[in-house]
Amino acid sequence: MKTFSPAMARLPAAGSVYLTFDDGPDEHWTPRILDLLAHRNILATFFVVGRFALEQPELVRRIAAQGHEVGNHSWSHRHPWTLSPEAARLEVRDGAAAIADLIGQEPVFFRPPHGRLRRSMLEEMERGGQTLVLWDRSAVDWGPLGRASGISRRLKAVQGGDIVLMHDGGRGINRPGELVKVLPQFLAQLRQHE
Ligand SMILES: [Zn+2]
Repeated sequence: MKTFSPAMARLPAAGSVYLTFDDGPDEHWTPRILDLLAHRNILATFFVVGRFALEQPELVRRIAAQGHEVGNHSWSHRHPWTLSPEAARLEVRDGAAAIADLIGQEPVFFRPPHGRLRRSMLEEMERGGQTLVLWDRSAVDWGPLGRASGISRRLKAVQGGDIVLMHDGGRGINRPGELVKVLPQFLAQLRQHE
């Protein structure tokens, strides 16, 4: 999925690759991933879920304090296609409000849950001054394909300019425990390209 936007250049870049971590913050996995990124001095965007963010305020502030972007990944991560237009709007608005409350800054990027688009969500996103960010390459760090070997293979295929989808949030079928097995090697590769 290619999403062109002038604001995309503002995504924190690791070389020319744009790293994104979704569905957090996660008490266990987000700090691990923050440590790995800090070790390599690499910046990323964390698309947080508003209601999880409010449960982990210090973690959200740590993400921002380390220089990463905090993006809006909706209030509760309900599937956009299951929502009424008004509920979909509220998902965007409340997700952004949670971030603004925690870090004192409105998010500038929005990614809908499951990458599924709704017109009402996009309208609300634009009203809030956020830009849509989907992804070019998924690590598929979830479900039955989400084993370290497969994640590693998919990350090796990342090319310059790619927006890469990964997950720090471990709820549901996400498998950040598999991701962190191969993330150090992937980050080391990125540095070599600079
Ligand atoms: Zn998600």
